[in-house]
Amino acid sequence: MHGDALACDIAIFGGGGAGLWLLDVLVSRGLRVVLLESGRLGGGQTGCAQGIIHGGFKYTLDGLVPDAAMSVREMPDLWRACLEGRRSPILSGTRVRSEHCYLWRTGSLRSRLGMLGARIGLHTASRRVPVNQRPEALASCPGEVARIAEPVIDPVSFVAELAGRHRRRILLIDEQRGLELVMDSPGRVAAIRLTPGDGGPARTITPGAVVFTAGAGNEQLATMAGVSGIARQQRRPLHMLMARGALPELNGHCVDGARTRLTITTDSDSAGRTVWQIGGRIAEDGVEMDAAALMRHGAEEIRAVLPGVDLGGVEFSSYRIDRAEAASSGTRPDDVSVAREGNVIVAWPTKLALVPRLAERIVGILECPETPPDTDHGVVFEDWPRPEIAQAPWECQAAWTSDV
Ligand SMILES: Cc1cc2nc3c(=O)[nH]c(=O)nc-3n(C[C@H](O)[C@H](O)[C@H](O)COP(=O)(O)OP(=O)(O)OC[C@H]3O[C@@H](n4cnc5c(N)ncnc54)[C@H](O)[C@@H]3O)c2cc1C
Repeated sequence: MHGDALACDIAIFGGGGAGLWLLDVLVSRGLRVVLLESGRLGGGQTGCAQGIIHGGFKYTLDGLVPDAAMSVREMPDLWRACLEGRRSPILSGTRVRSEHCYLWRTGSLRSRLGMLGARIGLHTASRRVPVNQRPEALASCPGEVARIAEPVIDPVSFVAELAGRHRRRILLIDEQRGLELVMDSPGRVAAIRLTPGDGGPARTITPGAVVFTAGAGNEQLATMAGVSGIARQQRRPLHMLMARGALPELNGHCVDGARTRLTITTDSDSAGRTVWQIGGRIAEDGVEMDAAALMRHGAEEIRAVLPGVDLGGVEFSSYRIDRAEAASSGTRPDDVSVAREGNVIVAWPTKLALVPRLAERIVGILECPETPPDTDHGVVFEDWPRPEIAQAPWECQAAWTSDV
């Protein structure tokens, strides 16, 4: 695959979790694939995600097992097989923050009911944790603590692992000034023309099919390809809280009625400080708050639901990010979303946990061959720029304060 023109089977737009997983699957089937990324790999939702590989717990808090819970049920085992190198894509270089998540409740009735709902909905999947085995952060919690087998990964290392494996097939594009879709007719992309910013020669890719896994960018790409009718999108905003300092390790959800009051995941930053990423209801309520108000509210919430945690000297920051999904009346879609028109596929995974399921659906639609031919397709446009990998949100935020 050299020169200024390239014929390929599939061109994927967007290098978040969905596009990168799909790239790996298609390459393993011997297809000639190129991935085009307009920003940083993982720089959309994936790099900002908390990395919980859901198995459906969140959707069963009212004691029911809705379609959403069924669609994610298999995901923890499937991801675990990849993380342990027993299944493709091999993800043995992806950092696992925790093998499981904790559930804890406060003393309120709503909280008790939520915990009960989770137990009924999950059947045996959650285990009660005896008081003497609770993690430090939950040692002083008055109510029950349970553990669910939902692993937590570091999404940035996941992106880096897949991107590192496929760097030769990944190109940085300028979607505003350097991208043209040459159409045969609406829904039939004949060629993709890429113009470099430095005035060098344009490149042309002629794909058999194109797949848009560009998250919030799908809508605009679909419009360019004349398939906006199959790409109705919704954005659900979040205002996420972060805390860093002398914090105990904690990965889990504070259950409150049919919702999670706080979802906390733990990592460490490049200076070795412990960092909490805090989502759940607080990040939805926080959309209407400015950063200072969210931090104040967050500190109050932590004190209320984690009475043993000392916030002395802990610094806070926040970031805003939209979840981008197929339109579903403003509520979370139950499953992955994939639509096709002509040789264009538009796809949203809905959750990071569901990217394997999304890739499987797309492979089914593309009718990919089962046996991989033993072919090395070489480096795509060797001198073309490659995108960087996104950083974790706490590495990008300059404004931290302990004055809350
Ligand atoms: C704060 C937060 C926490 C979350 N936590 C979890 C969690 O714990 N567990 C879970 O399962 N899910 C979680 N999710 C949901 C999950 O992150 C997303 O469903 C998933 O990451 C979406 O992946 P994606 O590849 O479709 O999109 P994205 O990760 O958004 O990737 C899209 C990529 O496309 C690129 N792009 C955009 N426009 C173009 C264009 N025109 N051309 C080329 N490239 C383009 C972007 O730069 C980006 O790299 C969370 C989401 C958020 C926002």
